[in-house]
Amino acid sequence: MTRAYAVDLLSDTLTRPSAGMRSAMAAAEVGDDVFGEDPTVARLEARVAEQLGHEAGLFTPTGSLANQLGLRLHVTPGREVIADSMAHILRAELGAAAAFSGITSRTWISQRGRVLPDQVLSLMVVGTDIYHVPTALIALENTHNFGGGTILPLDTIAAVRAGSQPHGVAMHLDGARLWNAHIATGVELAAYGRLFDTVSVCLSKGLGAPIGSVLVGSAAAIREARVWRKRYGAGMRQVGILAAAGLYALDHNLARLADDHARAQRFAQAVAAKAPVVDPAEVESNIVILDLAQHPRSAAEVVADLADRGVRAYALSPTRVRLVWHLDVDDAATDYASAATIATLGAA
Ligand SMILES: *Cc1c(COP(=O)(O)O)cnc(C)c1O
Repeated sequence: MTRAYAVDLLSDTLTRPSAGMRSAMAAAEVGDDVFGEDPTVARLEARVAEQLGHEAGLFTPTGSLANQLGLRLHVTPGREVIADSMAHILRAELGAAAAFSGITSRTWISQRGRVLPDQVLSLMVVGTDIYHVPTALIALENTHNFGGGTILPLDTIAAVRAGSQPHGVAMHLDGARLWNAHIATGVELAAYGRLFDTVSVCLSKGLGAPIGSVLVGSAAAIREARVWRKRYGAGMRQVGILAAAGLYALDHNLARLADDHARAQRFAQAVAAKAPVVDPAEVESNIVILDLAQHPRSAAEVVADLADRGVRAYALSPTRVRLVWHLDVDDAATDYASAATIATLGAA
């Protein structure tokens, strides 16, 4: 039995398709997408590619698959990807880059996913000798999930690009929540997108679609990714029904991400006024992380106590609790969650 929570802040993947989204799905024009004959999938792929400033797009069932296709396009076996130590592609995709693609990895350590260009560039191995693994790819994440929804500034990304491109090192963006960075900063999606060779974005997080991601890149890269998607068993048939949910989400649920950001901020301010476990200035999008390093209770204890009060959160580590805002959480639910958190922390 799943438990009913008054406020569920476990993840922004929890959203259920609205009535409007379901009608759009039911009405979708479809065809066999393995033969390239689903017009709704083609529309979604072209739209996202254009938004991100790329030539072509590929619809995938998950963000993990979109990321892993992106990685294997750039990195041949025995070469490496470098990324943040908390990157989703390395921490939360079950070692897929190694298991499927023979890719090794090294990491830099950051504060909350905030990249320092020099740190990235000095980790890069260029040229060949008889010992070192050549770096083929730099993978960045924006916003940074386990960092707490941290937004990478455009000039930081541009500095990494300027330092790596002359060495032929490619760049992939895990943009599962790039939509949130775009809404929070007003920076165009294409301005971010153009600084990368490939970008993955999720439709099933804050945008509220039940499934789906898109990988974008050059026409040649996406042709190759399409072959690998089929090889992995993810060639899909009349999935215009699912792509229609993504198109609906882009039309109706993009601008409203600002509401999630405002509510995450409202929560952070309410809690910070009572307990020094979060700095509202560090809450940049729809994710809040409570830092319990100086608090007597562990993340697991706080999560269990919050659950008893009807609020679901996630223990990221022994000292960090993550809460994620999404379209099923309103102002009243936000205030309920902040009161419960303050009570849980014994700071009422
Ligand atoms: C959710 C997420 C993904 C993709 O996850 P799937 O569950 O495979 O769709 C990738 N990167 C980040 C940062 C994410 O938050």
